[in-house]
Amino acid sequence: MRLRLIYYLVKNLIRNSIIRKPPEKIKEVQLSKLRKLIKFVYKKNQYYRELFDKAAITPDSIQSLDDIRKIPVSTRQNLVQAFPHKILSKGFKPGKNCFLVSTSGSTGVPIKIYKSYDTIFSTISMGSKKFMGKIFNVDKISIMSILVYAPETIEQILTDFVMKSKHLPFRKVNALDDVNVYIENLNEFKPQILFTYPSVLKDIKMMVDSKGLNVHSPRLIFTSAEIFEKEFRKEMKKIFPESQIIDTYFSTEAGLIASNCKEGDKMHILNDRVILEIIDNDGNPVKAGETGNVVITDLNNFASPVIRYDGLNDLAKFSETPCSCGHPGTFLEMVAGRKVDSIVTKSGRIINPFRVTEILSVIKGIAKYQVIQKALDVLDIFIVPELDREQERIGRKVYSDLKELFGDEMMYEIIFVNKIERSSSSGMFQLVKSEVSTQ
Ligand SMILES: [Zn+2]
Repeated sequence: MRLRLIYYLVKNLIRNSIIRKPPEKIKEVQLSKLRKLIKFVYKKNQYYRELFDKAAITPDSIQSLDDIRKIPVSTRQNLVQAFPHKILSKGFKPGKNCFLVSTSGSTGVPIKIYKSYDTIFSTISMGSKKFMGKIFNVDKISIMSILVYAPETIEQILTDFVMKSKHLPFRKVNALDDVNVYIENLNEFKPQILFTYPSVLKDIKMMVDSKGLNVHSPRLIFTSAEIFEKEFRKEMKKIFPESQIIDTYFSTEAGLIASNCKEGDKMHILNDRVILEIIDNDGNPVKAGETGNVVITDLNNFASPVIRYDGLNDLAKFSETPCSCGHPGTFLEMVAGRKVDSIVTKSGRIINPFRVTEILSVIKGIAKYQVIQKALDVLDIFIVPELDREQERIGRKVYSDLKELFGDEMMYEIIFVNKIERSSSSGMFQLVKSEVSTQ
């Protein structure tokens, strides 16, 4: 196992030097990887073979990067329906050369795909001393993660692997735990590197501000999975003065897509790993500075390839200005993606939004939901049911499960609707929104 890790580490470092190459060179790498992927799926993946046949595409149809647009976009629903047999490429066997991973419930209806060992190890080796030392000048590596580790999620698979390998001082903290548990662990373990969500940092800040506590400042804090608001970095500097906060755009389906560098605020798109398109509602590419839907192609995972996938449901734009670090890459500005608020109760408890999403996402029969805290003791729960006749059962289950979490501190209004829209002002779709804690 160790040898394999070193192999992927070296491969990764080489990959990183590719990112430093000029844009033309990166485009060459992208095209050659794309053509290899297309050739592969045409022969070995039933879902894509059927998709290509329907669109009359063969590997020869892809001669330039622009030709990728000949391939139809795949939705979340398409991949859900293709699971498990059509989406698993020939030559891959779960447990032998690939893992099953599932998205967490907090992105909506979970989706399952297979990831090759190659892609998983390359993600792990990014956390290695050599890589971090080279890219971020970190000398001592001790890592803590405060995440949600639902079964089969990439968070659970990666952390379990690192824990088992015992090569790194590593501590795993559950984001579903109380904010005091986060703070105690940070102060006791004093990690150099922290992986977590913006909402967890916000919870820590709320607690530190209200109780006047001190909290350890890791050298690096990596965040992902939620919208990173403009003012956020400045606010967090107040309680983590020694920390450099690096926001990443990471997805279970396509791995690491973009990341801040150590200097600027821009999101560098990792063009050697992915092809990121931004398209308008008619499927046409948008200009830099214009907002559109993210469509992603993962160039690395051959087990369940993700090609022109729009199921991330993120709105973004290509930045019109480069990063201040001087890198010649392409840069991304997230406009809307996942955004969640914590819920604060009358007694002062801070409830992480993932505790709520974990409950609602596993209740059968819910197609979509949104929770809005209207007042300190009032939660409105909007639910789109899969079947109207199930409303009563779903309502009872939602009520009893939430009551277990909040006790008698909340009153619940359960409202069944046909659809839930993104906010018209921000374009955001917020699963958990508080009109109390954000004020
Ligand atoms: Zn930069």
